[in-house]
Amino acid sequence: MLLRVERDGVAGWGEASPNPFYHESAADVSARLCALADWLRDRNIRTVHDIELAWREAWPLLGPSRAAQCALDLALWDWLARREGVSVCELALGRAAEPVTSFATVGLSTPEEFDAKLAALRGYPRIKIKSDAHADLAPVQRVRSEVGAEVAVDANCAWKARDLAALSLALSAQQALFIEQPLPPDSLHKLTRGSCALPIFADESCVVEDDLLALWPHFDGINVKLVKCGGLTPALRMLLHARELGLCTMVGCMLETSVLIAAGCVAAQIADFADLDGAWLLADDPCTGWRWETGVLHPPGGAGLGAVPLPTF
Ligand SMILES: [Mg+2]
Repeated sequence: MLLRVERDGVAGWGEASPNPFYHESAADVSARLCALADWLRDRNIRTVHDIELAWREAWPLLGPSRAAQCALDLALWDWLARREGVSVCELALGRAAEPVTSFATVGLSTPEEFDAKLAALRGYPRIKIKSDAHADLAPVQRVRSEVGAEVAVDANCAWKARDLAALSLALSAQQALFIEQPLPPDSLHKLTRGSCALPIFADESCVVEDDLLALWPHFDGINVKLVKCGGLTPALRMLLHARELGLCTMVGCMLETSVLIAAGCVAAQIADFADLDGAWLLADDPCTGWRWETGVLHPPGGAGLGAVPLPTF
């Protein structure tokens, strides 16, 4: 879902990547945003503070759709930065954007698929391996020995609490960086911060800003996704708050075009890790944006997010 706002001859682009896991759909996001047009015409966006105010005022109108909120928030950041002739990074953080080292994800694969993916990922600095209920650690060993990349494992809620201590010890011996969401969100009480051989990151358990304090006793890190929390505005607040709490941070993504990835790259400037391969995984990304080069995203330069749909889109 791409959203375009325009005023004073300046256009701003935003995006939502509605995910059924969070009960979001493109049709619902589209309807909510279209219904907001009159409200938006009356807003006066001149500063970052105005974007934050618009975010708060829009929520009662867009809720419960964080994806719709995300699209609006990104479009306003992009529009204001373009109007000011600066990048969103300069507008949000007061400095130019640095390249972002991202994980490249290897999904669940057949042995043949895994061989092909491994060959394609030579030279990549960080690889995230998806795991299922079988908790097979052989792929981790192969990535470490054959690619030499740093590795993290994302269990997507599929592991058992009783196996976690042994699995984290085994992965620690492979110098893995962390384990992401080993247990379902309703198993929070089975996790204790700092109790595993590796840091445990929350993903499905970590949705919005208000989740942080409840997660803190159980997790060592969080995966912030703009489309889960409602855009760049709350993502930046979450990352700063997490750092105050002593939590490790990562900025992640869904399957997204380069517009949402560009906003993720801004947030990633103040995070420990980035997992922003969503546009790279698309067969036909319809947008320009940060340039993906062997697992490193390079800022496009220019004003705004630096990401727009291709003329053919
Ligand atoms: Mg995940």
